[in-house]
Amino acid sequence: MVIGLACLSGFFVYEKIVRIKQYTFFKNWNSICKNLFTMTIFENNIRTNSTCCSCNKSDMKLSLTTQQKTELKVSKRKDYLSWDEYFMAVAKLSSYRSKDPNTQVGACIVNSDKKIVGIGYNGFPWGCSDDLLPWNRISSTGNENDTKYPYVCHAEMNAILNRNTDLKNCTMYVLLFPCNDCAKLIIQAGITKIYYLSDKYANDKKFIASKRLLAMAGVELVPRR
Ligand SMILES: [Zn+2]
Repeated sequence: MVIGLACLSGFFVYEKIVRIKQYTFFKNWNSICKNLFTMTIFENNIRTNSTCCSCNKSDMKLSLTTQQKTELKVSKRKDYLSWDEYFMAVAKLSSYRSKDPNTQVGACIVNSDKKIVGIGYNGFPWGCSDDLLPWNRISSTGNENDTKYPYVCHAEMNAILNRNTDLKNCTMYVLLFPCNDCAKLIIQAGITKIYYLSDKYANDKKFIASKRLLAMAGVELVPRR
């Protein structure tokens, strides 16, 4: 019995620790993959009651009353992802596909039924080699065509082009505030709301122009932290 209680105590301590890790993850968007895997292991442990501590797992089962077992079964998770967290996490996951060594951006477009209708990340166009075109931000020759900028498709552009339905009144989740070129595409596609994580180029002329366009078109802008 003592062993059983110790095991049960260990189980709840373990649960608390993992839940704290999950909470940390959703406040810190830089470690998605690692913590998603942690979450999977956590759920397996709840279902199988395995490896919560070094005790024999059969002792743990004996220590739970029928009422405790019922409570464990019917308890709803309290720390599940909100819709906004979920779609921004999808955008973040998409950014891991980018080959850009400096900036990885992902975008996810969602319709009014909370269905994902387009995903994209920054990269070169189809058929244009990631190994032959330059990834430089600055050219040693002064020729802009020796940098990545004339060639890269931004995440927002790719998400819009990858759409599987009309984008009118849809919402975009994107890691970086859209530039003026992407703002034009967003407006023309009919997207009416943008959630963004970072606005680090806010003082750049392109992004000032972007905000001017988006404001005139009535696109709602929602910063996420
Ligand atoms: Zn852009």
